[in-house]
Amino acid sequence: MTLTWAGMTTAGGIVGEFFDLKRESEADLLAMQCGDFYEFFGEDAETVADELDLKVSQKSSHGSSYPMAGVPVNDLTPYLTALVERGYRVAVADQYETEDGHAREITRIVTPGTLLETSDADAQYLGALVSGDSGYGVAFADVTTGQFHVTECMGTDATDQLLTELYRFDPVELLPGPTLRNEDELLSDLRERTSATFTLHATDAFGPGRARHRVREHFGEETLDSVGVADDELGVRAAGAVLSYVEESGAGVLASMTRLQSHGTGDHVELDATTQRNLELTETMQGNQSGSLLDTIDHTVTSAGRRLLAEWLRRPRQSRGELEHRQSAVTALAEAAMARERVRETLDGAYDLERLASRAASGSANARDLRAAAETLALLPDLVKLVEDTERLASSALVDALARPDRGAARSLANELDEALVEEPPGTVSQGGLIRQGYDADLDEIITQHEEALSWIETLPEREKRAHGITHLSVDRNKTDGYYIQVGNSEVGKVPEDYDRIKSLKNSERFTIPELEEREREILRLEEQRHELERELFEELRSRVASAAETLQSVGRALAEVDVFVSLATHAVRNDWTRPELCDDGRLDVEAGRHPVVEQTTEFVPNNLRLDDDRRFLIVTGPNMSGKSTYMRQAALITLLAQVGSFVPARRAEIGLVDGIYTRVGALDELAQGRSTFMVEMQELSNILHSATEDSLVILDEVGRGTATYDGISIAWAATEYLHNTVRSKTLFATHYHELTTLARHLESVENVHVAVDGEPRSSSGTGTARPADESETDVTFLRTVRDGPTDRSYGVHVANLAGVPEPVVDRSREVLDKLREEKAIEARGGNSEPVQTVFDLGSGQFRERDSGASDPVANGGSPARESEQGAAGLGETEARILDSLQELNVDETPPVELLQQVQQWQNELDDS
Ligand code: ADP
Ligand code: MG
Repeated sequence: MTLTWAGMTTAGGIVGEFFDLKRESEADLLAMQCGDFYEFFGEDAETVADELDLKVSQKSSHGSSYPMAGVPVNDLTPYLTALVERGYRVAVADQYETEDGHAREITRIVTPGTLLETSDADAQYLGALVSGDSGYGVAFADVTTGQFHVTECMGTDATDQLLTELYRFDPVELLPGPTLRNEDELLSDLRERTSATFTLHATDAFGPGRARHRVREHFGEETLDSVGVADDELGVRAAGAVLSYVEESGAGVLASMTRLQSHGTGDHVELDATTQRNLELTETMQGNQSGSLLDTIDHTVTSAGRRLLAEWLRRPRQSRGELEHRQSAVTALAEAAMARERVRETLDGAYDLERLASRAASGSANARDLRAAAETLALLPDLVKLVEDTERLASSALVDALARPDRGAARSLANELDEALVEEPPGTVSQGGLIRQGYDADLDEIITQHEEALSWIETLPEREKRAHGITHLSVDRNKTDGYYIQVGNSEVGKVPEDYDRIKSLKNSERFTIPELEEREREILRLEEQRHELERELFEELRSRVASAAETLQSVGRALAEVDVFVSLATHAVRNDWTRPELCDDGRLDVEAGRHPVVEQTTEFVPNNLRLDDDRRFLIVTGPNMSGKSTYMRQAALITLLAQVGSFVPARRAEIGLVDGIYTRVGALDELAQGRSTFMVEMQELSNILHSATEDSLVILDEVGRGTATYDGISIAWAATEYLHNTVRSKTLFATHYHELTTLARHLESVENVHVAVDGEPRSSSGTGTARPADESETDVTFLRTVRDGPTDRSYGVHVANLAGVPEPVVDRSREVLDKLREEKAIEARGGNSEPVQTVFDLGSGQFRERDSGASDPVANGGSPARESEQGAAGLGETEARILDSLQELNVDETPPVELLQQVQQWQNELDDS
């Protein structure tokens, strides 16, 4: 976007020019260069002054007065960064000389997604979204590092996938495609889910023909095939739009975008947006970084390392080969304590090579940046040597990580930079003094002449003093007089004829002589040549660095990987984590496991967890605050960490690799945080029921809680059956609907566990708080305190239906609901055994099983129930008494602590009886 305004100042003079450029730029703010300042006028001046605490002055122009605020030319960057980070699009107009004066043109439009001088080490993604009949195409690029990802979201849950991608990349700026701009509902959803600035980029940039051409031209013919994105698909349109937007912004970083990465297919563990948020991977539910998993386990020493660790947490892997590879590196580093510290020290101070590639491409890298890059590139051979010299490391996968970059290319780039640049170059390019002697013969020649001329001048005073017998004589230089000879008044009489007086001061006179004038001209000419040539050489060097972007990125990536391995090893050692054994069956067997974040701040009580093909679905019960949610999140986090390649917080762990982790926390817990509604809860349940597979891990925390009791039970009941019978995922379901525990008796792989409260005898089977239930714990008590309202009693099921919960589940929920209301028999469906009916028995206040062969499936619960072989035994004295007191207990008026104590007392009594 280059708008030339050469000399064409309108009637409004400089202010008029400003407003014209501003209009053309379509930016929120314009910074226009006027000599040594960038100025903002009018409303822009006031906005900028408010945001950045600048002073506003008044500029008169053609009889009117305009607010004006400015920043010095050399200080623009921090102001620009601050404005853009606050969400403004800022155009920059630079001034240049023309034959008849000055002209200005817009050279850059800086937006949140094209900001190069970011103050933040995190990734900074710019995204484009294109919608089509079959789904969405999404592209994300980080101009600061050259990362470029493209993917497509297809199928019935395309929108959920889209939201997941957004959550994962957390873009700062989004370019919605032309069609998407009319999808109000989706747009408002997107706005709610991201904090990105939305920008309307030219529609034709999203056109298939133009986009394909641009992507081909930029990444090369074969790229599209090799990443598995077909030519005319949506992903390409999104990628093309991103490329064109970056190009038009004038950021000049396209050269650093060397590789198109696609992740539509394959190997990653599915983690939907809700799950990423629930598990607090990179920020807590409250939006803080501190307290997140990343923050807890991060011991990286470079910003590239931290970015990579975040990426790994958001994209765990399924490939056992890749994971064992990572484990091998982490294990070796965990065991070789001394070497680990040395690797860490070596990496400390490494420069961000990925970001350098972009800065070199955009022309903003200075000599210090390149010097730092050279030193960082030189770390690679140091690390290789360190690894090779340490036996434990030499046999690990660290070797492979370091072998990936082209070491030859890295070495020659490092050498060239080192040969070209002085040890400590200045931070600016214009002053010279950047290039080492011996690098360029022409420059050396100029430098030699320059130095000769300077030394001629240096020795001039001595020569003149001697020749003319003058004691007080000096040679100096200033801006107005150039070089001059200064003689004290007392000796002025001694100066020879050819001394030409140029100025008289109070105590002295200034002269020049022809030889001095000649030298001066020579020095000026040489200085200019030297600066010019140094700048040329430096720019050549910088563009060579830019064209070596791939080398920089691959070395940067290798260093970042090593940094992450060291970080994982360090955390494992400091916190006594263990290397999990990865297996391919549906097992999850954790001995003395802990929650990786909670264990940092709490005296954590370790617990066991066992899931396998015969025990695939655990119903977790226990009083409020007993640790159910923590226990389940811990299961998810341990699985996730294992699939990142990390050690895990446990004494021993066997982890069956999963293809996805899905979590859903019931609306009530979330409502407290003002984020969710029952509708959202049902939409997310729906997403899980549609997306999870037999190889997934599903965590449901109090699902169904956001609605009336009967509805909630019915939905939870039907969802449990569906997950168990149809999806067959590994599932943990915490519920306060104790009714559900009865399902364990009828669904073959459903088991109950409960979380014990303090004071209760620990299970003999482990150290854990969570333990398998005794059969007696499957007895059911029924909540009588909550009744549905009289009007629409099936509101919850209705919402579930609207939210797209699979039809069999909705139908089944209705059925269960009807029977619950009428207090009729419900049969638990599924499992190998004949269906067993469960009847809610008013007399005893519990579910009972009914003979499966009974002719009337809706028989009233009043009929005598036959006991199953597992025995829902009749009530003993203690149980009956406890049930009575339970019924009398007023939950609303009893403080929670008392409730807990009461429950605990009952449990003790039950244990004793
Ligand atoms: P629930 O879901 O049963 O209501 P939470 O999982 O929310 O309970 O846990 C309640 C509190 O107990 C939290 O503050 C949590 O940090 C703490 N907690 C949970 N499990 C443990 C444990 N095993 N050891 C120590 N503290 C725990
Ligand atoms: Mg909870």
